[in-house]
Amino acid sequence: MAASAYNKPMTTNQPNKGEMLYEGKAKRLYVTDNPDELIMEFKDSLTAFDAVKKDTLAGKGAINNQVSALIMGALNASGLETAFIKQLDDTHCLVKNVEIVLIEVIVRYEAHGSLCRRYGIEAGLPVHPPLVEIGYKNDELHDPFFTDEIASLMGLATRDELAAIRYIALVTGEKLKEIYASQGIKLLDFKLEFGRFTPHRADGTQHAEDARIILADEVTPDTCRLVDAKTGEKMDKDLFRFDLGDVGEGYQKLLERMSGKAD
Ligand code: C5P
Repeated sequence: MAASAYNKPMTTNQPNKGEMLYEGKAKRLYVTDNPDELIMEFKDSLTAFDAVKKDTLAGKGAINNQVSALIMGALNASGLETAFIKQLDDTHCLVKNVEIVLIEVIVRYEAHGSLCRRYGIEAGLPVHPPLVEIGYKNDELHDPFFTDEIASLMGLATRDELAAIRYIALVTGEKLKEIYASQGIKLLDFKLEFGRFTPHRADGTQHAEDARIILADEVTPDTCRLVDAKTGEKMDKDLFRFDLGDVGEGYQKLLERMSGKAD
């Protein structure tokens, strides 16, 4: 599928979309004229089980871009720094140019999905205190869960960075629960990714001592398990993963709720 158009408005100081730097399963990243900033484009692709199951859903990229912008914007406004800077158009947003840490962090408030599959735990079991699991971001190896010791042995993050990642993940989770709950949605679990942001100094140089760990990537129905707090109706990628219903409808309902357009 071709990259969607991004029209730089003539009247504002929107960034230039340069060369594509990276293409993943759900997003593309492009350079801008500012080395500290990238343009992120959300694609219409849906993938599950390490892309063994895939499909395209027209409009899905636009929904996820808007949901992520609403949530990341709220996190920024609450004082929690994320890589999100601003939404540019339907499918594009401006983000900080971070070095992605190859660790996926999953936080759970209720047992579902792989936690139940791996350990035979009954779905819906409350998880108090929340469980934080870290996995190696590597599709070929199927993102295996690992320990902080193994992650630091592999040089993916220092012990201090891992402590920061775990702390930020839990703080983010509390804020996410509040943001979703204010729209009548229950957050069951979610996945986060983190990046090292090393802003360029005025002389154009970067220094390792300036690096800080911040929340990166996206927060969308692709990465969160979400249900209507009253009815239990699902509004996330499980609809696609397990053929549980109309995924487009579920994502659209979530966007309407999150943007205050629901009845
Ligand atoms: O499948 P599992 O139960 O481990 O997923 C936990 C949470 O992490 C779910 O919200 C799922 O959407 C998210 N996840 C993700 N990307 C992955 C694995 C899980 O966004 N690669």
